[in-house]
Amino acid sequence: MKLSLIIPCYNEEENINLFFESCLKVFGKAKNIEYVFVNDGSNDKTYIKIKNLIEKYNDLNIIGICFSRNFGKEAAMYAGLKNCTGKYCAFIDADLQQNPKYVKKMLFFIENNEEYDCVTCYQSKRKERFFMSTLKSLFYYIINKVTDIEFYKNASDFRLMNRKMADAIISMEEYYRFSKGIFSFVGFNNYYMPYEVEERKKGKTSWSIIKLIKYAKSGIMSFTISPLKITTYIGIFTLLIDVVYFVILLFKNNISILSIIIVFMFLFSSLQMIFLGILGEYIGRNYIQNMKRPIYIIKDKEYAKR
Ligand code: UDP
Ligand code: MG
Repeated sequence: MKLSLIIPCYNEEENINLFFESCLKVFGKAKNIEYVFVNDGSNDKTYIKIKNLIEKYNDLNIIGICFSRNFGKEAAMYAGLKNCTGKYCAFIDADLQQNPKYVKKMLFFIENNEEYDCVTCYQSKRKERFFMSTLKSLFYYIINKVTDIEFYKNASDFRLMNRKMADAIISMEEYYRFSKGIFSFVGFNNYYMPYEVEERKKGKTSWSIIKLIKYAKSGIMSFTISPLKITTYIGIFTLLIDVVYFVILLFKNNISILSIIIVFMFLFSSLQMIFLGILGEYIGRNYIQNMKRPIYIIKDKEYAKR
């Protein structure tokens, strides 16, 4: 298969047909394209709509995967990737916010620019409220500061990649998935392409501010153990204050018992904090190790064939 379109769907019964029609407009009845719909435990008729499509267009390659419950978009994207066979794989939402015409553009670009492994769409104009865009900017600022990998601001999940990159992502089997981090972690050459996001056709977004904050927190936690080290830094800071206080005391003539008790209390609580931080770091390393992330990813291997 030349191209696999992976479509995570959660309560999209009203969008499935509209979405597929818009794909047909762009790709026609191409036989070398595979549509992988992943129904992420919808409470509505989404899966029935998918099955109807499979029946109606039985000469096309449409696959329907149905989860036993709602596992989240990240899990749906992973399942889609694991169950597709395309030389190129693309993620696209079912709500028509991401026009399939951009998939064609991405495919054209990657086929003509061999040095790139992935084309990522980013919103050229963000159609969001000031509050939301400030929150997102803050998130990108923090995550870029505290992790070792680079996060491109405004990059979406709407992207197309080659098989090498898709296989690298499949090799990341961690449970708490944060795709934006995984895409950055696996590396490869990315080309960023601007696109204009459209209004959701039917239904409503499943994201709320609280959900977004939780997602951002989980993303940061998946890619850094820095929060665990904070106690160590606080401990070192309070220890320094203690030392300064102790030196001031030495220059005094009469040192009270209370001052000495304060010095020792500060000393021991600082030491406790430092050791708590160190303990946290060991736990954090264990946590990262348990994700069983690949230690390296080989993109290419060349050797003389005899
Ligand atoms: N989605 C999913 N599982 C979920 C939530 C969303 O598969 O738990 C799908 C949804 O059907 C859509 C895509 O992920 O195709 C993006 O979701 P949504 O439109 O709610 O997000 P937004 O566009 O507002 O970021
Ligand atoms: Mg949407």
